[in-house]
Amino acid sequence: EYEGILRRQSQRESAARTYARSLPIVPVRARGLTIEGADGRRYLDCLSGAGTLALGHNHPVVLEAIRKVLDSGAPLHVLDLATPVKDAFTSELFATLPGTLADDARIQFCGPAGTDAVEAALKLVRTATGRSGLLAFTGAYHGMTAGALDASGGASEVRVTRLPYPQRYRCPFGVGGERGAELAARWTENLLDDPKSGVTTPAGMIVEAVQGEGGVIPAPDDWMRRMRRITADRSIPLVVDEVQTGVGRTGAFWAVEHSGVVPDVMVLSKAIGGSLPLAVIVYRSELDAWEPGAHAGTFRGNQLAMAAGTATLAYVRENKLAERAGILGARMLGRLQGLASAHPCVGEVRGRGLMIGVELVDPDAAGPDDSVPPPAPTLALAVQQECLARGLIVELGGRHSAVVRLLPPLTLTDEQATAVLDRFADALAAAER
Ligand code: PMP
Repeated sequence: EYEGILRRQSQRESAARTYARSLPIVPVRARGLTIEGADGRRYLDCLSGAGTLALGHNHPVVLEAIRKVLDSGAPLHVLDLATPVKDAFTSELFATLPGTLADDARIQFCGPAGTDAVEAALKLVRTATGRSGLLAFTGAYHGMTAGALDASGGASEVRVTRLPYPQRYRCPFGVGGERGAELAARWTENLLDDPKSGVTTPAGMIVEAVQGEGGVIPAPDDWMRRMRRITADRSIPLVVDEVQTGVGRTGAFWAVEHSGVVPDVMVLSKAIGGSLPLAVIVYRSELDAWEPGAHAGTFRGNQLAMAAGTATLAYVRENKLAERAGILGARMLGRLQGLASAHPCVGEVRGRGLMIGVELVDPDAAGPDDSVPPPAPTLALAVQQECLARGLIVELGGRHSAVVRLLPPLTLTDEQATAVLDRFADALAAAER
């Protein structure tokens, strides 16, 4: 049965699927951090639905919220109509918004995916400013639809100006640290100020406070504040993509709060739906330049997703899970850094809160700039497979798929964190052999 399911799906589904190729498991039950496969094996799930499951699988408060809607006889599909479920979701979400955005926010339900909300954000700033260009960053990931792909690293650069994203380890200027971030910020300013650059004032800038798919690269807070100043001075709306970083994941409710920056537009999905599909943008009301009907879509306002989302947002807030993620994440980073000292193949351990990345490298090969060794995607894949063999599910990311990513639920206990790291350490040692 188990083998049959795996075989049939691999024959019938397109090869574009990513997870199915590297994680040949057939999940049939799940609770919290744990997934159980059809073969009876249990796994610790540090993929968490690609960061969606802030409270882990099937958290009781989420299940109860979903059941309550089902039992109430409320319509499950309501297009854009006003409902008590939507009202509760919007109120709970607005109560979490940073700074002045909290007092002056508009919401647009998009959906159902993060990439839909990115499209909406890009369209909104283009409509509001009457301009078309976009500033986006190398290594960014915003989704797989056309506009979102444009905004992501390495894709078409037709209308998109690609800016350097600061990195300590693979610094685009080869200096790292604060100096690298300073150079990255100045590069952006010079580009916008130099009439010869050909870059006219764009419709917006889109940025992740921690690049997730790009390999877990947290931007320095100072640099984020510089981006805020650069955009504010030029009346360029700042769009912050919190699809992956939001809802406590990085140790603050929204990752942008670490820097104190208040964006003009926030793109939200994944955890806000409490494991069901939901995506919205929230933005300063001044930007609400849309004509009635300018942004429509059938699958918006899924009542089950909004109820699950409300329960998740409230649970994270009431139980201070963002703070918890910050503390536990720092502890996990500490232990992983210990591993890095013992294993030269670990190039860098980085992250913020429970968004953690371990970049694997080939220490014996000289890097392009002779200082940083080249990424080791084959080793990273081997580590992922050794993790799987030890009942631990991790994800790979980064431009070269050489970063092992850990995105555990925010409900992770100390004991579970230890179990995850024990298995990871074993897997690393086995893969290195
Ligand atoms: N933005 C960011 C920062 C993401 O991490 C992702 C998904 N990994 C998306 C947008 C796209 O979301 P979705 O896959 O739901 O379209």
